[in-house]
Amino acid sequence: MPKWTKEAAIGFVPVLIIFLAFIGVDIVPILIAALLVGGLLFMMNMRGGITVGAAQERKRKKKGPSKLTFEEIGGQDSAKQELREALDFLIRHEEIQKFGIRALKGILLTGPPGTGKTLMAKAAAHYTDSVFVAASGSEFVEMYVGVGASRIRDLFKDARARAAKENKENAIIFIDEIDVIGGKREGGQQREYDQTLNQLLTEMDGIYTSETPRILLIAATNRKEMLDSALTRPGRFDRHIQVDLPDKKGRKHILELHAVNKPLTQEVNLEKTAEESYGFSGAQLESVMNEAAIYAMREGSATIEQRHLSLAIDKVMMGEKTDRESSVEEKKRVAIHELGHAIMAELVRPGSVSQVALSPRGQALGYVRHNPQQEQFLYTKRFLEEQIMIALAGAAAEEMYYGGRSTGSRNDFEQATNVVQTMMASGLTSLGIVNMDMVTTEELMRENKVILQELMEHTKLRLEEQRTIFDNSLDILMREEVLSGEQFRCQFRDSARLPA
Ligand code: ATP
Repeated sequence: MPKWTKEAAIGFVPVLIIFLAFIGVDIVPILIAALLVGGLLFMMNMRGGITVGAAQERKRKKKGPSKLTFEEIGGQDSAKQELREALDFLIRHEEIQKFGIRALKGILLTGPPGTGKTLMAKAAAHYTDSVFVAASGSEFVEMYVGVGASRIRDLFKDARARAAKENKENAIIFIDEIDVIGGKREGGQQREYDQTLNQLLTEMDGIYTSETPRILLIAATNRKEMLDSALTRPGRFDRHIQVDLPDKKGRKHILELHAVNKPLTQEVNLEKTAEESYGFSGAQLESVMNEAAIYAMREGSATIEQRHLSLAIDKVMMGEKTDRESSVEEKKRVAIHELGHAIMAELVRPGSVSQVALSPRGQALGYVRHNPQQEQFLYTKRFLEEQIMIALAGAAAEEMYYGGRSTGSRNDFEQATNVVQTMMASGLTSLGIVNMDMVTTEELMRENKVILQELMEHTKLRLEEQRTIFDNSLDILMREEVLSGEQFRCQFRDSARLPA
């Protein structure tokens, strides 16, 4: 139907009614009939979501078969392996039936945003030669009772119909952000989500291995603990696969995949970029490659060089450089704050500072860039305390020079309190080994205060011993706006040579 049909009808019908009235036709029955039809359509819209729901369905239908393979997903070796093993249940369904093994109905992918959960679901569809139908939890949330549930029904219907049409034996339904509809149900008041969740559970219970198409649900969330236990119990989403942030090897692999269609110079070392992008997700790494290409193109360079990649990492980590002009006094305060972080970092982890910069980026007015460290999965109490001291050192330095703090330490304090929470939950504080749900907020606040106060005092004492380094580095930083790690360490060496 042409797009303008609806508009033409809206314009034509009133004109026709006026014309009929004008030539003497009794239009009252026509108006009553029109009202009844309108009311009926409105009701259908509310209950079945014929407009939004149908639009979403059309959108889903437009998606062609999934062509993405597991080879196109970087890192995530163990998650991919686990997923492949689970998918073999779908492929080897005859053997499974022979052994009387229960059908696998749901796989839950958990992990931080942008780690490739959607990619995994698509690759799963390719691996099992299934049709792929995707939806997001938020699509099922509506003001009107029953709409979400009816959309769940439609989703399953759509998957079955597409499998039949495309002559496929399997269908994979992917639901992103499952926590939106699958959150814990609380007793008492019924929510609209509960009906949607109940419908999902009912549909899952109606999946049988002997039926074709065989349906497999893959859901993704980054808040697994929020899910209702009915959803995660055996027979429902009982395969849980963790999709974590990639390690160095994984990051290199992801960078390589996204570099395939980009002109890199021979000298580019993606291992170094992988090292520098510690803690980045797959989506952020894709963005690094993209931003590096943009920097190279803007410069008129024919190829992407290592420095473009370094600039792109800074951009993805801290945002674009801004041209905010600050006063000399403000700049000096920022320089002192950043030097506080840098000096403390160099004291506890010698050789760790790679650059101190005064140029504003994103929300920050200055920043310290650290050299990549050896990847760690376990942290000692001492390491965590040092991490807190590095975070507090900015505010401590401001106190040293100005006798007070500024609003510039907000993020640092957030970081420090997060580390304190990790310490508490890991039994590394004077609270001992505790169940965090059983400790009162007052107790937590008291412990938090004691730890941070003690570490703040300690930080101030250690920074006070480095006044000469502060003063000398401050001069260079105010003049040049950047201080390289080497220049900075020179100050340390010089001060060690000076007589005490
Ligand atoms: P969310 O939880 O926010 O929905 P997600 O985990 O589903 O995120 P995806 O949508 O799969 O993440 O990934 C987003 C984009 O990031 C992908 O299109 C891809 O470009 C890139 N990406 C993420 N992880 C990987 C990976 N392991 N290998 C290659 N590219 C990746």
